[in-house]
Amino acid sequence: MNISVNGLEIHLKTPDEIDAMRAAGQVVYQAHMAMRDAVRPGVSTAELDQIAETVIRDHGATPVFKGYPKKDSPDFPATITASLNHELVHGIPSPKRVLKEGDIISLDCGCTYQGFVGDSAYTWAVGEVAPSVLRLLEVTEGALYEAIHASVLPHETRDVALATGNYVARHGYSVAREYTGHGVGKMMHEEPQVPNWWPSGAKARRLNFISVPLQPGMTFAIEPMVIAGRAELQELNDKWTVVTKDRSLCAHYEHTIAVTDGDPIILTLP
Ligand code: MG
Ligand code: MG
Repeated sequence: MNISVNGLEIHLKTPDEIDAMRAAGQVVYQAHMAMRDAVRPGVSTAELDQIAETVIRDHGATPVFKGYPKKDSPDFPATITASLNHELVHGIPSPKRVLKEGDIISLDCGCTYQGFVGDSAYTWAVGEVAPSVLRLLEVTEGALYEAIHASVLPHETRDVALATGNYVARHGYSVAREYTGHGVGKMMHEEPQVPNWWPSGAKARRLNFISVPLQPGMTFAIEPMVIAGRAELQELNDKWTVVTKDRSLCAHYEHTIAVTDGDPIILTLP
């Protein structure tokens, strides 16, 4: 069912549709676990991409990032985005990008299965990493769960955004402001946006942040992107890879969830 809230067209999912989204989410989960098992020094990001694509196609699903269009850029060429260390998001897998001991690798993966999309991301440590790096990963994953726990009635999307942003700020890190979580369903990107921060009062209006009261049947991909240094970003010449300007480390976790009248359901976990 489609509803209109604050000028946004939002697709509420029926219980059957949420079950279908869970099935898509399970395929994404399987792809992530296969990649997690393969992450080690010496493996290339192209190999991880191949692993994810094989899992997705073996399930009869379709990679949703592959061929994804972007204005003034070539279509995205791969099944996953693989972003190393100071790369925040949208890194293009390559046989030349080989993981080394001490790296962190952010892997984002989505698929379409039986008409619905699942979308999820993890950042993994490659071998041993410094305790300060592990802390960045823990805080980013913690921010995702703060956001999920805040995705309950009678909250609005602003409450979810504030839960995320405040948690990250409390731990001394920055969130990427330009990239947001999003509604998800038959399309990877639906309304509403679910940011990882929320500006105050007039600034929110000026920046066109639109808060939406949560309702059962809403499905979101929530995805905090957390930066150890300053939150200024830059796009590389490949027109996809986004990096931190100060080359500080960053991490990214994401789950697709469904809002209910009780606890939210995480569709990209078993
Ligand atoms: Mg994603
Ligand atoms: Mg997403």
